[in-house]
Amino acid sequence: MAMAPMGTELSERVAAVRARIAAAAARAGRAPGDVTLIAVTKTVAAEVVRAAHAAGLTSFGENRVREAEEKIRALADLPGIRWEMIGHLQTNKAATAARLFDRIESVDSLRLAETLEARAAAAGRTLPVLLEVNSAGEASKSGFAPGEMLAAARAIAALPHLRPEGLMMVAPIAERAEDVRPVFRGLRGLRDELRAAVPLNAVDGGWRELSMGMSDDYAVAIEEGATIVRVGRALFGPRPTTATTA
Ligand SMILES: *Cc1c(COP(=O)(O)O)cnc(C)c1O
Repeated sequence: MAMAPMGTELSERVAAVRARIAAAAARAGRAPGDVTLIAVTKTVAAEVVRAAHAAGLTSFGENRVREAEEKIRALADLPGIRWEMIGHLQTNKAATAARLFDRIESVDSLRLAETLEARAAAAGRTLPVLLEVNSAGEASKSGFAPGEMLAAARAIAALPHLRPEGLMMVAPIAERAEDVRPVFRGLRGLRDELRAAVPLNAVDGGWRELSMGMSDDYAVAIEEGATIVRVGRALFGPRPTTATTA
């Protein structure tokens, strides 16, 4: 495990990220409370997550079921802690994931959605999910193509033990955050289309959440409507290079 900030340094980083979130929200005429900060803790040791919780963070994101399972168990005593799955999920891990996580952000195929539906039903719960979109059509990324979203959203909205809450995207890597702005704007447009075409049981038609923006570009994502940002390195420092990042 890499050296990660703890104590005062971690508190300062949390405060700095929160201030940038509030400033970006203000520029877009939005309230800071409109944006949920998810601290991405892949490769980060459980005791550092504990320190992050002490520094005021409550929502954590993990991209591997096995790594998450250990931390979730080790930190089960922390009040109000929430865990989100943000990485590609193999269907053979769906049963464990459907029990462990408060939300699965990375539902990237109909097959996975149907497997999660069965596992959530067996676990006696309704599982909040986001649908992952591969906006730029990158071969290296999973997710629904924008053109297949409408049909996928209809099918998933009909599954009784899944609760779709919005869309998630991992933006293409860019030299400057500004270059990704059109992709963020595109995801928001897609969300607005879904809201009109596949209304959920909510006053505004549902599909509220737009999970987009990471350490390098979360401010731009918030200006374009992100309601969830997933931030790792800006809070915990660089990850070891051997770690999987997607
Ligand atoms: C690792 C990861 C993040 C966080 O990335 P940082 O650049 O460390 O902020 C966000 N989302 C997903 C899906 C990730 O895998």
